[in-house]
Amino acid sequence: MKRSKRAKNSDKVLSFDLGGTKLGAGLFEVVSIVNQKQVAAPVKLLTHEQIQVDWSQGTQGVLAQFHELGRLVCEKAGASMADVASVGLASAGPINTLKGTILNPINFAGGAIASHAVNSQFRQWAIVKDLVKLFKKEVAFENDAACAALGEQAQGVAKGCDDFLLLTLGTGLGTAIVNQGRLVSARSGLHTEAGHFVLSLSDTAPLCNCGTRGCAEAYLCSKGYAAVGEAEYVRRLTQFIRSFAVVFAPKQIVIGGGFGSKVFLEIESKLKLGVAEALSGWKESGVSLPKIVAAKLKNEAGLVGAAVLASRGL
Ligand SMILES: [Zn+2]
Repeated sequence: MKRSKRAKNSDKVLSFDLGGTKLGAGLFEVVSIVNQKQVAAPVKLLTHEQIQVDWSQGTQGVLAQFHELGRLVCEKAGASMADVASVGLASAGPINTLKGTILNPINFAGGAIASHAVNSQFRQWAIVKDLVKLFKKEVAFENDAACAALGEQAQGVAKGCDDFLLLTLGTGLGTAIVNQGRLVSARSGLHTEAGHFVLSLSDTAPLCNCGTRGCAEAYLCSKGYAAVGEAEYVRRLTQFIRSFAVVFAPKQIVIGGGFGSKVFLEIESKLKLGVAEALSGWKESGVSLPKIVAAKLKNEAGLVGAAVLASRGL
């Protein structure tokens, strides 16, 4: 077991979740509860905190917030950075996990970073290199929706499920695919960005933060809901889920994200009916319909997933 190499005083991992407006941090204990030959709960959350990110001082300013928040969660748990074996980072995309870079963060500062004076600093930001330098630990790095999926798979609603899609609805639309037990990645460290499937070719379709009109993200983010109202929102979400589901035939569709968790409570029955109707051909073919479920880990999903990734390297 690789884990036996871990120093006795380093049984904790620190993880971060960098979103469009917020930075979360959590300190986890690495545990190994073996249940039917599977690691049932690889990490246990000890303490977590969240702040609104101040983007105004550029990458150095954001790194200082990582440092302060990391120190705070360690302190709250009666631990110090010396107890931390490795660091995990879940980040809003698009990112390149092989290069450890944030490519062009269209949703930072709620999408306003594009007009920000320090915008260029956040493009091609070698954030993993910077965090390794800052914490002097190895840093595991993944897209935030992918981390949320890993978190839900490890100890959330998708526990034991090998085939599911996860949607995080908030400032943007994050998506992740777990297929036959494995997180699906795109080419060379890129993430599967299904949030940018185009749902409408109309010239009046809303403009996505990526610069394209009619992306699923533009319709299904919290601003999209405010613009079109519930009925149209459910119609769009149904079509997106249908399009996404026909590619991977998932067993579950997990709806998460701050806005997603709230809106799901209101639209759950209409959405389930809509998707069942949109995928009625499956039923006729004897293929079971995907269950549409609310994420269990809420705000902590990305932190849990990043901690799971960080713990894998130990
Ligand atoms: Zn887009």
